Amino acid sequence: MKLITYFNDIQNDLLIWFSDNGRLRIPWKLKSDGSRPETGEILSPYGIWIAEVMLQQTQLKVVLRYWYKWMMTFPNLVSLTEADEQEVLLVWQGLGYYSRAKRLHKSSKLLLNLIGEVNSSDFSFWPVELDQWMALPGIGRSTAGSIISSAFDLPLPILDGNVKRILSRLLASNKSTQKNTKRLWILSEQLVPKDNPRDFNQALMDLGALVCTVKNPKCSFCPIRNYCLAFLKYDPIDFPKKDMKKVIPVQEIGIALIFNNDEEILIDQRLEKDSMGGMWEFPGGKKESYECIEKTIKREIMEEIGIDIKVGEKLISFEHSYSHKKLYFTVHLCEFLSGKPRPLASQKLLWVDPSRLLEFPFPAANTKIISTLFKYLGIEKDNL
Ligand code: SF4
Repeated sequence: MKLITYFNDIQNDLLIWFSDNGRLRIPWKLKSDGSRPETGEILSPYGIWIAEVMLQQTQLKVVLRYWYKWMMTFPNLVSLTEADEQEVLLVWQGLGYYSRAKRLHKSSKLLLNLIGEVNSSDFSFWPVELDQWMALPGIGRSTAGSIISSAFDLPLPILDGNVKRILSRLLASNKSTQKNTKRLWILSEQLVPKDNPRDFNQALMDLGALVCTVKNPKCSFCPIRNYCLAFLKYDPIDFPKKDMKKVIPVQEIGIALIFNNDEEILIDQRLEKDSMGGMWEFPGGKKESYECIEKTIKREIMEEIGIDIKVGEKLISFEHSYSHKKLYFTVHLCEFLSGKPRPLASQKLLWVDPSRLLEFPFPAANTKIISTLFKYLGIEKDNL
């Protein structure tokens, strides 16, 4: 089969499958009246940009409710540029990888400078070049390609996790996706059609999410199985090949919920330069191998806040996984004894009534602590 025919056949079969089976009601892929766009019609790049950044580490079904909440709070570029960072983090709270929210906020100002405030509601003034989008913090080639193809229906290739998996299986490649990136990009470029690239890229993503899944790919329902070497010659589950797994370290963290005589609780705001900078948390720190967790908490609070506390009963312990590490948290209720609290390792300290905790953006691990604390204190909140 000629290569060009091969690409045309894959494009056609995938687009036919998409029109019957694709996720056709993704809100940012629709016009404001809820209808599907015509070929070449421009959609709001603002809503698509926000969705694409949310989707970088998160599945579509989770992103949907956060996207709606975001669009209600910051409906356009200008409203985002005018927002306070704490407000942005609060709307993002629960989605994780908070640097994405900060980068969106920062990027909104860069985009507004580029487009101009008076033009920002006219989508034809928004950037359509790959390098213009990739100049924004946190936007890589695949995200930029997806924004441009989705908003402007232009033929830019994408290579997210789903697409990498499909293409690796089409090729039955013996290399891991990491070692095969260049080849996969070339194939994605060759595959994306000039007509209807918006639907084609979405079809690839939908195929990866619905049919060509990591475990148990449903090859008998796959529209491109006749071109797939992994299906035709091998077991698709063996692709993509994996690199040796890294051992993920586990760290033990002691956390103090410190109450004063007014029954207020102490929270601190992370330094801007740290990961999740600007977010709030309960103070604590890493356990040393030679100490028990109560000792860790007492020492960390003295080192980071300069106060003496009495470490009381344990409230909860749990594990929280990040992409590169696992943390095992042990949380104790503590009593403030003496000293003047100072933010020695944070940017700010606050004593707050526990019922106000939800007014502050906390990382996901702290949200679990708050819900347990609310149960313990008998505080009822609907939005936990
Ligand atoms: S045939 Fe199977 S492995 Fe190949 S692309 Fe389709 S679902 Fe994936």
